[in-house]
Amino acid sequence: MTGFFAPWIVYALILALHVVLPARSVTGYVRGPAGRRLRYRLNGLLVLAVVLVLYAGAAGLGVLPWDFFWQHRWEGLLGACVLGLLFTFAIVLGAPKTGKPLLADLFLGRRENPQWLGRSGEALVDAKMYLYLIGAIQLELNLVSFAAHQALAHPGEASPGVFVHVALFTFFVCEYLFFEEVHLYTYDFFAERVGFKLGWGCIAFYPYFYAVGLWSVASRPDSRTPAALLVLYAFVFFAGWALSRGANLQKFLFKTRPEAKLLGVLTPVAVSDGTHRLLCSGFWRLSRHINYLGEILMAIGLTLALGWPLDPWPWLYPAYYVALLFARQADDDRRCAAKYGPLWTEYCRRVPYRIIPGVY
Ligand code: NDP
Repeated sequence: MTGFFAPWIVYALILALHVVLPARSVTGYVRGPAGRRLRYRLNGLLVLAVVLVLYAGAAGLGVLPWDFFWQHRWEGLLGACVLGLLFTFAIVLGAPKTGKPLLADLFLGRRENPQWLGRSGEALVDAKMYLYLIGAIQLELNLVSFAAHQALAHPGEASPGVFVHVALFTFFVCEYLFFEEVHLYTYDFFAERVGFKLGWGCIAFYPYFYAVGLWSVASRPDSRTPAALLVLYAFVFFAGWALSRGANLQKFLFKTRPEAKLLGVLTPVAVSDGTHRLLCSGFWRLSRHINYLGEILMAIGLTLALGWPLDPWPWLYPAYYVALLFARQADDDRRCAAKYGPLWTEYCRRVPYRIIPGVY
């Protein structure tokens, strides 16, 4: 039972910390029903740090084993799945219908950007930001705990590959939380509603499935991957990160300060129809979704670092990204073609590749 409720307790703790700890207050990209841009409180990195310190403290004092979330991984996954379902029913069934069938509403959601307001009328908790926060933090707890299991189960055989995997993944989680504000400008915020896909996705799928690689290999001894290969895999990861973060930051800058130069040197070039503008320089000249290629490369680097390249299970993680992001590219291009009309056609002529420059 402890394992089943572990993610419930972690998510409640995160909610409490998110509400009480100091936060930056920022204006987002999407507009609320009154037509005004929504406001958000952001303190994800601080909440992560406090949760990790509490976990390390509890493990150091012997209150919890270092590999607690490994020992209880199956019950934890089940508990998170049940909570994800309960959350889905609560958030969807309590909202006005969209006119779609009930199953579609349950899957995709009804509310666009639910927020719980504080006494001052400012948003205290934004459902989407909270969901991404709990997914990221529970994922980090799982990774640390699974890696601890690998080291504890094989004294003297702690795997450097596992260490590199967890270090890169921790970087991935921390930098996402560092750039939390940039995330407000993504598809999830302007095009998705809160239902099973986003709710169950963040409560159960994100923290447990993203750990599938380590879940598969943490019971094994060191894979004895040569250090030079580990460096190469880290390079693949950081090449992906540079593409993804570079493109996302460039677009964020373009949306917030259209004339600002990227890194102080790259002047933005855009196609325009007089009303709208689309960026077609820098990262955005390489392909229309170079950030998706970056995300896939990061997933490949993470998987290779584990050191078991012939095991199919860790490859589920990059395979998931390919399926998600290739489908999302098609959806997003359809949405942009409808929104931007002939300007989108002109943009596609200027930037012909969808994801992989020169190939696709
Ligand atoms: P994008 O950041 O590419 O956003 C697409 C939107 O950007 C379009 O709908 C359009 O919105 C705008 N846009 C597209 N082209 C241009 C252009 N040339 N100039 C200006 N604006 C443009 O995609 P996502 O929001 O899907 O993804 C954001 C990030 O999150 C990516 O790095 C992605 O890989 C990552 N991601 C990560 C996941 C994970 O699990 N780690 C899962 C999914 C995504 P508008 O109408 O506002 O102009």
